[in-house]
Formats: sequence, structure tokens, C-alpha cells
Amino acid sequence: MKLNFSLLFLLVFSGCLSEVDYYAAVQDNCTYFSYFNYGVEYRPDCREDLESVIPINEESFANVPELRISTLDTIQTLVAYPLVLPPENRILGVAPWSFPSAIFCLFVGPESETCFHDAWGTLMNQRLFNHFVSVVNSISYNPDESIDLAARYLPGKKLELFPRFFTRDIFSRAALLVHESRHGDTIMHELCEDSSLGRECDTDFSGPVGASVLYAESLLNGSFWIQDDNWHFEILDDYYINEIVKFEARSIKNFIMNIPEELKEKIDAIDAVPITRQQYLEWYPHLRRQN
Ligand SMILES: [Zn+2]
Repeated sequence: MKLNFSLLFLLVFSGCLSEVDYYAAVQDNCTYFSYFNYGVEYRPDCREDLESVIPINEESFANVPELRISTLDTIQTLVAYPLVLPPENRILGVAPWSFPSAIFCLFVGPESETCFHDAWGTLMNQRLFNHFVSVVNSISYNPDESIDLAARYLPGKKLELFPRFFTRDIFSRAALLVHESRHGDTIMHELCEDSSLGRECDTDFSGPVGASVLYAESLLNGSFWIQDDNWHFEILDDYYINEIVKFEARSIKNFIMNIPEELKEKIDAIDAVPITRQQYLEWYPHLRRQN
């Protein structure tokens, strides 16, 4: 399908690189919010648009049509939920400048403020989605439960999803897609410092794990979007705020080797309690309603 899409190509120049704007083909139908449940409305017309740019391996999903829909809805999550980088590239309110913001800028060229900021934060969604599509040549379902993975990125730009991908909530699924797409930049893991864990880690936040954490943090910040007229839009409820924060904490603790000291302490504190909207706003006071 991706090849047939060439007539719709819109070339966007950014810096000295050009990229295909797949986002332009899906944004009209994929960015709707339902104001009744404060979340994205997953719609068939968005799924159709996504199908026009995302190469789904239909055979692999033949017996699990509901997982195929779930996959498309996860991709819509990347498109629709506004992403805003936290101020000073902080993580969980601490550790300023921890995120190499170049991760998302890398997708389009030289690092620039404009990689992140526009009226609705949609530029980051656009970069992220375009990058995802550009590094994924096929998405297939692998029902093998004996493989201890949720997803993997294979040579030939193949993304494979396993049953345990679908047992996660939709935001950690979306974060996992970001993780896998970072592998598309030929960034792999290495053995953790404590090799007895038998696990693979990243040395810092510039790898796949960091990309998924940066996504999660930007998702939380973007969910408290304040427009110029002070209209306040809170997209995620306490349940998901806690889930996403815990996802970040677990990912950092288990899979990133060089963690700033103050962040380590914060993560241990986070582990012990549920994190609410109120708590998150204490970390990021600029997100508070101004009235
Ligand atoms: Zn990985």
C-alpha cells in the first residue's frame, strides 16, 4: 500500500532533509477527541486512512481481526494524543536536560526548537508518526507465546507483535511502538551493567527505552494543554496518569544504566504511591490552571 501512496506524497522540507509527510494523509480523520470521555475517539475512517500508509501483514492477522483493529488504534494514539516536551527536558519533574531532545529532531534533521513547539503540539506527533511509518515496512502478528517478548524489530524493517503486546494498556503499547521505531535508526541495546540480570539495557536516554520514556513524558505534558486564552484541556484521568508514570519509572529503573542521582531517588518514591493528576501538577506547576 505504501507504494500506491506516492501520488499523495507531500514533501516537507525541514533543514536540509526532505521527508514524506504520511501524517498529512491521516490527520483529518485520526485526531478527533471525544469530549464525553476525554480521550481519542477511535474511528473506522481513521483506521482506513492508517491502512493506506501502514503495511499490515493481513495473513498474520487473519484469525485475530480484533488485534488488527487494536494495532491500528494504537497507531492512532501516536497520531492523536498531543505531545509536548516537558520544560528543560525534565523527567518526572526532576533531572533537567536529561532527555536528549535530538531524538525527535533526528527524525527530521538538525536539532531545532521547532521540532517540538507549535500551537497544539502536533508537530511532535507528526515527526513521530512519519518516522514510525518510514522505518516500518510491515507489521505482523506472531501468536507464539513461548517467545518472551511483546514486540520486536527485525531486519527488513519488519515489526512483529506478540500476544503480550496486546495485554498492555494502549499508552504503553504506543510507547512500545516508539521504542521499536527507535531500533529503526539502527540503535540496538547492550547487556545491562549487572550482567547477572541477563537483560539488555540502554546506556542513556538516547536509545529505544529513552525514546519510549520521552514519549510517555510528552504524552503526560501534552495532556494538560493550555491554550492562549487559558482554556484548559485535561485529557488523561488519574488512572492513566498513574499507569504512564509507573511505566516510565519501571522502564528507567530496569533498562537504563546511567540515571541522574536525583531521578533515582524520585523513582523509588514513585514506586511506593499512586500518582495522581494533583501530584503530577506539583512536579510541573506550569501546567496548572491559571485562574
Ligand atoms: Zn528494544
